[in-house]
Amino acid sequence: MSLAHSKLELKLRGIPVSEGVSIGHVVVLNRHRIIPAKTNFQTLNQAAEEARFQAALDDTRQQILEVQKRLHDEIGAKQSLIFDAHLLVLEDPVVLEEVKRKIRKEKASSEYALYTASEKYAEALSAVEDSYLSERAADIRDVIQRVLENLTGQSKQVGLSDLTEPCIVVANDLAPSDTAMLDPEKVLGFITAAGSKTSHTAILARSLKIPAVLGLGKNIDELKSGQSILLDGFNGFVVISPSDQMLFEYGQLVKRQNSIETSLDKIRTEEAKTLDGHSIVLSANIERATDVQAVLKSGASGVGLFRTEFLFINRKDLPDEEEQFQAYKKVSESLTPEPVIIRTLDLGGDKLLSHVNVAAEMNPFLGWRAIRLCLQEKELFRTQLRAILRASAFGDLKIMYPMVSGIDELDEANKLLEECQKELKDKGQKFSEAIEIGVMIETPSAAMISDKLAKRVQFFSIGTNDLIQYSLAVDRLNEKISHLYEPTHPGILRLIKTTVDAGKTNGIWTGVCGEMASDLSMVPLLIGLGVGELSVTPSMVPRVKMLIRSINMSKAKELANLAIDIDSPKEIHRRAEELSMEAVPNFFKAKRI
Ligand code: PEP
Ligand code: MG
Repeated sequence: MSLAHSKLELKLRGIPVSEGVSIGHVVVLNRHRIIPAKTNFQTLNQAAEEARFQAALDDTRQQILEVQKRLHDEIGAKQSLIFDAHLLVLEDPVVLEEVKRKIRKEKASSEYALYTASEKYAEALSAVEDSYLSERAADIRDVIQRVLENLTGQSKQVGLSDLTEPCIVVANDLAPSDTAMLDPEKVLGFITAAGSKTSHTAILARSLKIPAVLGLGKNIDELKSGQSILLDGFNGFVVISPSDQMLFEYGQLVKRQNSIETSLDKIRTEEAKTLDGHSIVLSANIERATDVQAVLKSGASGVGLFRTEFLFINRKDLPDEEEQFQAYKKVSESLTPEPVIIRTLDLGGDKLLSHVNVAAEMNPFLGWRAIRLCLQEKELFRTQLRAILRASAFGDLKIMYPMVSGIDELDEANKLLEECQKELKDKGQKFSEAIEIGVMIETPSAAMISDKLAKRVQFFSIGTNDLIQYSLAVDRLNEKISHLYEPTHPGILRLIKTTVDAGKTNGIWTGVCGEMASDLSMVPLLIGLGVGELSVTPSMVPRVKMLIRSINMSKAKELANLAIDIDSPKEIHRRAEELSMEAVPNFFKAKRI
């Protein structure tokens, strides 16, 4: 990543992952832990030291109670329960006794006594291969850091739940579960050292419409709490102490963007049809049931991907059948008569739960994820299938299985689905018998056997985010190799074409729900390859629609035919982008500074 200086400003460059410009002050999240040095004071006043320790415990308890109350009021009772476990740590007799013993017998400082006593306990818990226990270890460390902050008076280590004022968050990394909790009112933007464009953190930022620049690497250290910065999510710049001239230029950029947004309102209800009359189904990707409002506003025709795992994240329990049924029903009813494709649980990879027992894995993206996990955790899967089936009585719901890599997985999933259908029938519960089933094509093997898969399902949706990472062997989260993550690699185009052709031969449609569909430069190439549906983040629906309405399918096909024979991914990208730029030049120009 490059670093450019001018007299006053400091400009850092990262990966632009979520469009928008934000200006605000920085809040740096927990960058380092306090690790107290070993100290033994022969002259230690034990009574005073114990009192100091007790006072720090009391302060910490008070602070946790305040955070808990705020969370309870803002998000709800269930989420705030997480802090009950934190409060219990402060009363743990084993740790407290050990601290007192160390103060009295070893004449250790409170800081050192607390740190060593609690670490011993936390280490033992995290060594056990059990995600529930390792989560307890994380709770202990979190609380102990708070006590240490109070003991040492060191600047407060800030967590997301501590944000009170609107700010730009800076962190080494943000988990998708943290990002899902961000409040756009308080978080004007965020910046991380790690991450890339197709990480779920980036996808969520776009869905929440929070401008974000990721992958800053070591340059992140230039950012300090309290600094005034400008974040450019269009081009991937972070500017420390922006000059008046720079603020003016960005003001102009925002105006250009706003005027495009306004002009797009008039095509909201129009069809996504090319100039030469080819209709494309343009739908939206959602992560939460509440996202339907954004879908309705965007003018999308339904939901092409509902990432249901976000219903399961950031909570201590699992959503039961009834809760899931209500969520799917709500989405479906709000969008009727448009279709909604519900993707079954895609846990694993970068989306983990504390209460589904997923032990740490060497290669989580190649591990116990999505359909693999569901076919072993059968009750979890069946509960979801029953909930989707019941909701199918209220709208046009379709089921889609993620990360299928072979026929057996699909057959096994369908067998469980049939069993759930029978169960519901026996109980006299309503569901749509004609519910359509699809698979995501996101492993190379699925694309290669798409001719066989096509005989068993009613549609394909290509998950380019994973298809690219698995085919090119490029981790989608790793900023160090993000330059190798090339959607226009000829190998990827061949896999897409193989899938589309297999679908056509067997009379089923193929969509793309990966981020490639939301990339304006890629849209003509995808439809030229024969993709019939694009499912994109709601905020991109109007632009993608306008682009489709501004191109000729004949030109898109010409591009695709040419691209399939070109060796260089960069050359294919250049040509594809050229065609899009010709069609909607102002979309590209308006981003430039
Ligand atoms: C994909 O892999 O392209 C996809 C849409 O699924 P996810 O991003 O949730 O893995
Ligand atoms: Mg995927």
